[in-house]
Amino acid sequence: MQSGGDDDRKPRGIRTRLVNSGRVPFDHHGFVNTPIYRGSTVLYPNAQDFMDRKARFTYGTKGTPTIANLEQSWTELSGAAGTVLAPSGLAAIALALTSVLSAGDHMLVTDSVYRPTRNYCDGILKRFGVETEYYDPLIGAGIEALMRPNTRAVFTEAPGSQSFEMQDIPAIAEVAHRHDAIVLVDNTWATPLYFPPHERGADIAIEAGTKYLGGHSDVLLGLVSANERCWKPLRQTFDAISACAGPEDAFLASRGLRTMPVRLAHHEKAALEMARWFEQRAEVLRVLHPALESHPGHSIWKRDFFGSSGLFSVVFKPVSTAKTHAFVDALRLFGIGASWGGFESLVLPFDCSEYRTATQWNPGGPCIRFHIGLENLEDLVDDLERGFAAMTKA
Ligand SMILES: *Cc1c(COP(=O)(O)O)cnc(C)c1O
Repeated sequence: MQSGGDDDRKPRGIRTRLVNSGRVPFDHHGFVNTPIYRGSTVLYPNAQDFMDRKARFTYGTKGTPTIANLEQSWTELSGAAGTVLAPSGLAAIALALTSVLSAGDHMLVTDSVYRPTRNYCDGILKRFGVETEYYDPLIGAGIEALMRPNTRAVFTEAPGSQSFEMQDIPAIAEVAHRHDAIVLVDNTWATPLYFPPHERGADIAIEAGTKYLGGHSDVLLGLVSANERCWKPLRQTFDAISACAGPEDAFLASRGLRTMPVRLAHHEKAALEMARWFEQRAEVLRVLHPALESHPGHSIWKRDFFGSSGLFSVVFKPVSTAKTHAFVDALRLFGIGASWGGFESLVLPFDCSEYRTATQWNPGGPCIRFHIGLENLEDLVDDLERGFAAMTKA
């Protein structure tokens, strides 16, 4: 918001900063929120100003106050040099990769990557002459052995958004930077609140704002932040492609930003309680949640992350698909569906084995992913008990 007196230099708490960042009420007649600017044409007062494009905003695709305020807030939150918005998380990934790669480049991508990222690499990037090689998410500094003279980028994501392997991103970044490669992270699970991407070694960080930033399952948005090294090419690529976010989605994401720390704190606490509840169940083989002491990546999570979010997976002891589906179908409070980060709980069965190439996915039983929403926990527990009862009967 407005900058004021001397004590502006005193560091403020994160909720205070997110309540105030990017807002300029007295540029908008005192209204608390920056309104939704819809616009293509921007008018100039005279011919010379038009020829010089002398204006804070020059054309609708290049930004509006609605867009710029969110970009600025995200840049501050992420500790970045700059941010651009994209119309979806996947569009943000495509934009980020396009800003970095050229024909003849080699890229290392975690085998646990969000599957549509994989499809983009194996489809479009391959067609454009970029070779993608997948690596074991547990590789850490061992990624050294995979670096080639033409390795231009390493794409990380921790934890995997179904399988929950933790990656040692600082170790991977140290190796990559020694080889002059660019490090990207898909930071959707933790958000910059729980994993400061650039401080941990990422040159470019991607967030599906569709998830926790939107927070209400009614927004599609992606954000790409970059450090000094990558900011200019990122912004130039954004301007060249011009795939910009919609004004309503940017507005709703700015609104989401104010409450994101409060919502995430609740998702974190509730998901941890539910994960511990699952660990006690006789039907459960393992719970894949990095903040649990039992998780193989727990020490990395504890070292690098400030918190955990509402998404984790559960591996059941071996049972038939019919029984697994009976469990899922009996739930009334958990919607069956992809995406997550909204106020409501979700569930989905998954199997990574069919598309992994660098690693084998052998979790030991059927896998279910949960997103824990903002409902009362005792109601969610009742619902899950109903699911287990249906599973026994099926
Ligand atoms: C959902 C998701 C995306 C893509 O976001 P969309 O807005 O749905 O395109 C990217 N990465 C991860 C890890 C996600 O969960």
